[in-house]
Amino acid sequence: MPLKSFIDVPADSLPIQNLPFGVFQPREGKTRVGVAIGDLILDLSILEELGHFQSAEFYDRKVFSEDSLNSFLALGRPAWRATREILQHLLSAEAATLRDDTRLREKVFHAQKDITMKLPARIGNYTDFYSSYHHAHNVGTMLRGPENALMPNWKWLPVAYHGRASSVVVSGADVRRPSGQTKPPDASTPVFGLTKSLDYELEMAFLIGPGNSLGEPVPINRAIDHIFGLVLMNDWSARDIQAWEYQPLGPFLAKNFCTSISPWVVMFEALEPFRKPLPPQDPEPLPYLRGKNDFTFDIHLEASLQTSSMDGPHIITRTNFQNLYWSIAQQLAHHAVNGCNLEPGDLLASGTISGATEESRGCMLELTWRGANPLKLPNSETRKWLEDGDTLTITGWCQGDGYRVGFGEVSGRIIGSDK
Ligand code: CA
Repeated sequence: MPLKSFIDVPADSLPIQNLPFGVFQPREGKTRVGVAIGDLILDLSILEELGHFQSAEFYDRKVFSEDSLNSFLALGRPAWRATREILQHLLSAEAATLRDDTRLREKVFHAQKDITMKLPARIGNYTDFYSSYHHAHNVGTMLRGPENALMPNWKWLPVAYHGRASSVVVSGADVRRPSGQTKPPDASTPVFGLTKSLDYELEMAFLIGPGNSLGEPVPINRAIDHIFGLVLMNDWSARDIQAWEYQPLGPFLAKNFCTSISPWVVMFEALEPFRKPLPPQDPEPLPYLRGKNDFTFDIHLEASLQTSSMDGPHIITRTNFQNLYWSIAQQLAHHAVNGCNLEPGDLLASGTISGATEESRGCMLELTWRGANPLKLPNSETRKWLEDGDTLTITGWCQGDGYRVGFGEVSGRIIGSDK
């Protein structure tokens, strides 16, 4: 019998099995931490003030009245688990504390439509991996042909670059079309102007909890101790700027103008029922990347596009988190193997999550094969790349028996540079 709450939650909403954490600003009062259930937010700063988390014995100060999750993230898994258990108990159909106290319920619950979601963490560092075999293979095929699609290192280490943390924004923020230097194929010198090939990248990312000290690697079998949970991410990309600038040091201005993430962080504990074994890796990775019972998750992911003249969104990507070749634990262990110190609130992203089929390609670059096969939309518009006024939304969820553990969405609308 699945756990039930006294709060009515529709099958496609946020059930007691999920309880994602986020940071919100109520209509009145300061920004604070909450968890989502159904279309409500439970205000953890008030519960903390009332002493509901004292029994957990992890808190030497108030972590939920802060304007980010960072202090809570730093506490680590035993504290996260204890908090989740307290919340699941308070929200369960059997517990009377909230269920039977109308005045308390009025204080601690906010309607999600009445509040503003903020970035869940102060992100000190952001790293983007490149862990989908099919994405790397498709992009490599476009650049170098199918024989040389993968670089020689790709199956030996999770390739990544250091991104820009200051331009990570929360879902709903507009995305300004960037300008930059590009070199049209038929030109002998570069030109400056607005990007003509703006793209999305469907990704997921995880938030670091307790960090590691500088100089001390994280063994792969301890990697999960450092990870709180997952969000959806869109790594907005300007392909023409990228094509001209990326050699020899990788992405720079083509990526760092904006990266959007979803506001709700889904804890690993909520994803446990959807754990899947990692598919076999060939060649076998080096020992520091070989974990015991390494795993991935079954998370269905979609991207949809709505132009300014469409009535509703049209799904253009259907993919799954299981399409990633490298696991989360391998990504983290590799990141820290040289002693690089990860810190609470750091964001580590998967890279574009493409699968083997055409509909599972996670960006326009692959879907249109660099603009050669434009997307046909239901209102007979076509798209090679994103245009001003277009809204791109990524959603994701795990399908349980009669319930979903959903991630909500990450959405952004493209605006021209003069808006
Ligand atoms: Ca990316």
